[in-house]
Amino acid sequence: MTLAILSALAEEQQGIFEQLEQPRRVQHAGRSFGLGLWYGQPVVLALSRIGKVAAATTATALIERFGASRIVFTGVAGGVGEGVQVGDVVVAADFLQHDMNAAPLFPPYEVPLYDQTRFRCDEKLTTTLLIAASASGICAGGRFCLNPEPPRIHHGLVASGDRFVSAASEVQALQTALRAHGHEALAVEMEGAAVAQVCHDYGVPFAAMRSISDRADDTAHVDFPEFIRSVASRYAQTILAEFMQRLG
Ligand code: SAH
Repeated sequence: MTLAILSALAEEQQGIFEQLEQPRRVQHAGRSFGLGLWYGQPVVLALSRIGKVAAATTATALIERFGASRIVFTGVAGGVGEGVQVGDVVVAADFLQHDMNAAPLFPPYEVPLYDQTRFRCDEKLTTTLLIAASASGICAGGRFCLNPEPPRIHHGLVASGDRFVSAASEVQALQTALRAHGHEALAVEMEGAAVAQVCHDYGVPFAAMRSISDRADDTAHVDFPEFIRSVASRYAQTILAEFMQRLG
């Protein structure tokens, strides 16, 4: 039972490789994979780079080449749901592709020939992730501590697409279009739905957490670099360490 820990960017899982026992690196498909034991369990760490295709390639390699029997994604996302603030954590319940539209052949957002729009995360892994996030007591710190309370943990739909959403008007348009089809997204990012679809194809359990790096609005590009450097890796390390200790 190998657990894969997947992120888009190095900062999103910085520090975890250093904690592995018997660490080694393998180059494959233009990517560096990190193997070893973490909390006594075999893990493989991977960086997909940005976007749905890169994420799908990496997820496929993790399953086909590295024998990953479950995959957890850790990364950052733009908060678009009400009350989803910078520094909060979103644990995905399911994913859709907000840029998938084969209408009028198929309903908007439906993945053609899958008869499916939303891809659900694995219940057991997701519950463990939710418990780990609550137990971790993380705080964004510094200028990311927007209120004195600890960061909130949200659970729901995450929308993926090949677009960095960075305008309030764009968020508004996206949310309006999604709501017209009965979808209420908490966060936007660029990889999760692709990994969820690959995991669906292979029958591999998948779960995902995203710390909120920006509000996907006109200041998204300002918040993003500092957040990812100073906060994202700490969140990933702390929450996933709790997760590993609870993994059956
Ligand atoms: N300027 C950055 C670009 C990062 S793209 C760079 O040069 O590295 C954003 C990454 O973070 C993607 O992997 C995506 O999944 C996530 N993300 C964070 N905020 C996002 C937003 N507002 N819209 C889309 N993706 C976002």
